[in-house]
Amino acid sequence: MEKPWRGRLAFLVLALLLPWAVGALESAALLPVRGDALIRTGGDLETDFAGEEAPVVALTFDDGPRRSTTGALLEGLAQRGVHATFFLVGEMLEGNEDLIRDMAAQGHQIGIHSYDHVWLTDLSAADFEREVGRTRETLRSIAGEGSYLLRPPYGGVDRGVEKRAGSPIILWSVDPEDWKDRDVERIVSHIVSNARDGDIILMHDIYQSSVEAALRVVDALHEKGFLFVTVEELAQHNHVELEPGKVYRCFYP
Ligand SMILES: [Zn+2]
Repeated sequence: MEKPWRGRLAFLVLALLLPWAVGALESAALLPVRGDALIRTGGDLETDFAGEEAPVVALTFDDGPRRSTTGALLEGLAQRGVHATFFLVGEMLEGNEDLIRDMAAQGHQIGIHSYDHVWLTDLSAADFEREVGRTRETLRSIAGEGSYLLRPPYGGVDRGVEKRAGSPIILWSVDPEDWKDRDVERIVSHIVSNARDGDIILMHDIYQSSVEAALRVVDALHEKGFLFVTVEELAQHNHVELEPGKVYRCFYP
């Protein structure tokens, strides 16, 4: 007859290992960039999988696309194996269709930042539709079906915006105000010193200074073990199910 403690010991070992194994599998499935980022930055993959969870953040870019700056940013992100989220302005879409298709094909997430970059608060249903619905339709015609999250310009949200959004509303938790002085050093240092696991970082890909800062931020945070994912991946990673009309600023674990 088998000694009963053996069964209990085997069970104990299994119980201890199971959460780790599930966690490792889950991270591997949800974070395809993990291996990439670590290998490229010379990180230690084994230590990472066996040890602590790496901090994960989402870089988001508003007000584009702008061919010169957005193109350079896409190139830099591709070199670094990083996926970001772009909230695009409807009136900037025409003539940039190839750029938007590249964005989608490279694994970035695309969202809506209104048609004319206006406040969405206090709009009639028809005006809201012209700003958000029209942009969503144009994006669908260019890049196909997608969730197209909403980021209202200026972060302006009221009951009307929540009611009519038609998708989750994504704000941010780190804002370097990169549009203000366009000082690359200051922008990089603001983000690198404030970023923590689960943050949504706000930037604007229409400035050369922001593109340069963003790529330096990626390099600096890679060095510190951070990983970059899209907003949707960040929510999923922290087991948050996004709901239409609901406002999200971060996904802290
Ligand atoms: Zn904006």
